Amino acid sequence: MIVPTSTMLTAASKAAFAVPAVNILDNLSLRAVVAAAEETEAPVIIQVSVKTVRSFGVRLVTEMFREVATSSPAPLSLHLDHCPDVELIREVVDAGWQSVLFDASDRDLNQAEEETAQVVAYAHAAGVDVESEIENIIGVEDGVGSDEAIHSYGVGTLVEVANRTNADFIAPQLGTAHGSYKSKPQLLPDRVREFLKLTDRPIVLHGGTGLSPQDFSEFIHAGVSKINVSTALKESYMRSAKAHLDVASAKNEWEPTRLFADVLSGVRQEIVGFIHMFSAAGKADLVAEAVK
Ligand SMILES: [Zn+2]
Repeated sequence: MIVPTSTMLTAASKAAFAVPAVNILDNLSLRAVVAAAEETEAPVIIQVSVKTVRSFGVRLVTEMFREVATSSPAPLSLHLDHCPDVELIREVVDAGWQSVLFDASDRDLNQAEEETAQVVAYAHAAGVDVESEIENIIGVEDGVGSDEAIHSYGVGTLVEVANRTNADFIAPQLGTAHGSYKSKPQLLPDRVREFLKLTDRPIVLHGGTGLSPQDFSEFIHAGVSKINVSTALKESYMRSAKAHLDVASAKNEWEPTRLFADVLSGVRQEIVGFIHMFSAAGKADLVAEAVK
């Protein structure tokens, strides 16, 4: 079933879990993530990078998601990840996606606020939720972002901006980074608590790959409601494919549908692990109830 992203995140805030937002790459990884959601009875956000959207086109991604999600009992939403391009945001809003991340973190504060307010007004008119990123989350993902903290602000400032723009969810710097960690990150779960003293808007954690179950548990206790997972899916996808191809090569047996089945199974297992770590297993009913 397709549900609004805000409904999932509100339920997550109330029931002390986080909704996994998993970046899919194609129809196979989409089906693997949905299978993981069904197996664990969890709500899951299907997230798509700008790069993936541009390679398939908005219409095909929208149709792939609708086809799978409408026939699934799992609560699912379709979300555009890190998008600095207002035109593309308008396109997916018009296509009826559930939410978008407008990434204005490469702009100065005034410009970022002005453009975010415009994006929110456009999206809300169509019933689409907006995640707002004003500070840049460190690390480059699918060609978007920077390895340095270029824009950082106080929690109070970020909450005031969110109140003025009416953005639905806030994606602040929390010490995490995109991609794989080269050294141990300095995590900032207390910063989540500072936000939640000042606002009810759900807080989003980016850069989930490479954190320990203990790290996730601290962030969820602190109150994050959405945790993004991208690199872990890419790695499980490729490792499952390699394991299959090693065997295929040794046996000299080449059957693509068996490769697909093994990749689907590998990615599904990986995502099931994250769903459990985020305490999202068994929370599908809670979200379905909130939609009624
Ligand atoms: Zn991100």
